[in-house]
Amino acid sequence: MDNNKIQSKVLAISNVTESTYILRLERNGFDFKAGQYLVLSIPGERKAREYSIYSGENDDYIELLIKEVNPGELSHELKHLKIGTKVQISGPFGFFILKDEDIQQKKPVVFVATGTGISPFRSIIRSNPEIDYTVLHGVRYKIEAYHKEDYLPKRFVLCTSGENHADFNGRVTDYLKLNPINLKALYYLCGNSAMVDEAIEILEEQGLPAENIKTEIFF
Ligand SMILES: Cc1cc2nc3c(=O)[nH]c(=O)nc-3n(C[C@H](O)[C@H](O)[C@H](O)COP(=O)(O)OP(=O)(O)OC[C@H]3O[C@@H](n4cnc5c(N)ncnc54)[C@H](O)[C@@H]3O)c2cc1C
Repeated sequence: MDNNKIQSKVLAISNVTESTYILRLERNGFDFKAGQYLVLSIPGERKAREYSIYSGENDDYIELLIKEVNPGELSHELKHLKIGTKVQISGPFGFFILKDEDIQQKKPVVFVATGTGISPFRSIIRSNPEIDYTVLHGVRYKIEAYHKEDYLPKRFVLCTSGENHADFNGRVTDYLKLNPINLKALYYLCGNSAMVDEAIEILEEQGLPAENIKTEIFF
């Protein structure tokens, strides 16, 4: 897949929670495999940031799920762009994708995310709804279960570390420690580095081969 560098208009910005929003952009022929990310910048400005693609391969727009971090630069600026403003996107980048053979063979895959780390998984599932997936989503509060309705309830486990009303009360790594690991599955880990490092340790300790683990670190 060739890398593109294109300008793309902002079509919509919609809040999902107080601090997290969806940035919808014109697609303009931008080609990608679900799970990949792009690099976004505002023309004329130097800062550029990576964002995993939240929309599916077949959507005629691109969506990104962005958390406004404080203090942060681009995540704040993007939230306040006017509809119709052009941003620059380049990519796609990354290898955090499901192999075609794993999709065809319906290999079980467990997607482990913290926060907006669910973004590449939503794109993969939206693009390949027939796969045998389980999502473990770790957030602080239940309200951060971004678009939970997009996943089959029996395939989605919400883990909350800050309140007690979810499927599992505790961190996503606590869930991994307390529940059996599927040694035949692929485990995809995405989010903050502390979660990813701890999850690798837990999975390998329980005998999951290292080649069954794929990671994407946001920060
Ligand atoms: C491959 C890749 C994909 C990414 N995909 C996404 C995505 O889909 N959605 C998304 O919101 N971010 C994503 N990020 C993070 C994103 O690139 C920026 O780092 C983030 O938006 C902060 O940028 P900023 O300019 O506002 O703040 P900066 O000044 O660059 O960063 C301030 C601090 O914010 C913290 N931070 C960064 N990202 C997050 C986050 N998501 N949640 C909590 N704290 C954070 C870090 O500690 C950082 O030091 C991704 C990063 C990588 C490397």
